Amino acid sequence: MATETENGSHASHTSHAALHARHRAVLPDWLATYYARPIELTHGEGRHVWDAEGNRYLDFFGGILTTMTAHALPEVTAAVTEQAGRILHTSTLYLSRQAVDLAERVARLSGIPDARVFFTTSGTEANDTALLLATTYRRSNQVLALRNSYHGRSFSAIGITGNTSWSPTSLSPLQTLYVHGGVRTRGPYAHLSDAEFTAACVADLEDMLGQASGTVAALIAEPIQGVGGFTSGPDGLLAAFKRVLDRHGILWISDEVQTGWGRTGEHFWGWQAHAQAGPPDILTFAKGIGNGLSMGGVVARAEVMNCLTANSISTFGGSPITTAGALANLAYLIDHDLQGNARRVGGLLRSRLEAVSAGLDIVREVRGRGLMLGVELVEPGTDAPSATAASLVLEAAREHGLLIGKGGRDGNALRIAPPLSLTVAEADEGAEALEAALKQVQSTME
Ligand code: PLP
Repeated sequence: MATETENGSHASHTSHAALHARHRAVLPDWLATYYARPIELTHGEGRHVWDAEGNRYLDFFGGILTTMTAHALPEVTAAVTEQAGRILHTSTLYLSRQAVDLAERVARLSGIPDARVFFTTSGTEANDTALLLATTYRRSNQVLALRNSYHGRSFSAIGITGNTSWSPTSLSPLQTLYVHGGVRTRGPYAHLSDAEFTAACVADLEDMLGQASGTVAALIAEPIQGVGGFTSGPDGLLAAFKRVLDRHGILWISDEVQTGWGRTGEHFWGWQAHAQAGPPDILTFAKGIGNGLSMGGVVARAEVMNCLTANSISTFGGSPITTAGALANLAYLIDHDLQGNARRVGGLLRSRLEAVSAGLDIVREVRGRGLMLGVELVEPGTDAPSATAASLVLEAAREHGLLIGKGGRDGNALRIAPPLSLTVAEADEGAEALEAALKQVQSTME
């Protein structure tokens, strides 16, 4: 076995194989990795990352929508390093200047009046907390969720996850009622116009509420379903839902773990595509806020946030190190108008992908907005979803120096979500690599 260098840049094939074997021997079987031969990433800069064997990739998945601004952003590195040199952790038992600064900024940005912010360490914990608040506030354990949704991997978050490939247990402590609304182009309402689709989903919601026994606490929804393959109902759908929810006093939780911080280009939050409804009662966030640092959080009106009467803390939530990094990241994002960049460059990228796809019968649809774009793949010349095609395209794209994600109800959607600082030249570079990968896979499948 060859010796690895300090940064691993000349690691041999043998050492990779050995690492992979050790990984398989000690990590759970259900811990998903991409690629038959998983990549060991060692460092990144801007929109690019490098693996232990020295290969360079354009990162069209931004880690996992976590690298929001850029890899190794100097401002974030400096803030984290400076904080690490002073004190790593203090806990919520003490005052934290950064936590207050960040909470003020997030509360203002959220659009929620009289907002309170609670920091967590992940999206799962944020959603868990949102469910705790909603069920306590409403004294009910019944929750509405969208089919095909993903909300995290705790017991309660799995319990409200509608994407069956991510919800292995039905022993949830919550009673979940699933309604239509996340998947626009497949399923029973696929042939309907936007207005008809919205009306059908509202009727489904009303029908579900008719079946609920007693009080329903909340509806939780991703404005664009992430793991679900970057799908969504038409703009305004959640506002139409909200009108029904309001009649029953049911809370609306917007899961913005993937859609927050300007990723969708047109809006800072996904819920703003449904702005007629006003802000949600509860908003959850994670992923991109810390540019890779483990931070999430919940925003809610004070009366909802403060409905808990017992003590509650999160030992690591809102720690000095994550809040310092998140503050620097958020400042960069806003000062450099990365939301505007996501809109402009995302629009160009979408047009490029549509042009590429027009000539390929492996592609059924290009969708999404801003820098959250999905490409749905089918068996060539049919309408049958092809998860195999998605896996093959991931592998082929890797050969062309491009990292992308996949997901979807049928595992057949490519997910494109680069850091929001993507340049036009990089969008072109990625589109070319993806075109080559799609063509390569189509030719092997025909
Ligand atoms: N909610 C959504 C919409 C997500 O996409 C995810 C993760 O992918 C989560 C919640 C869970 O977040 P985490 O993995 O940080 O616990």
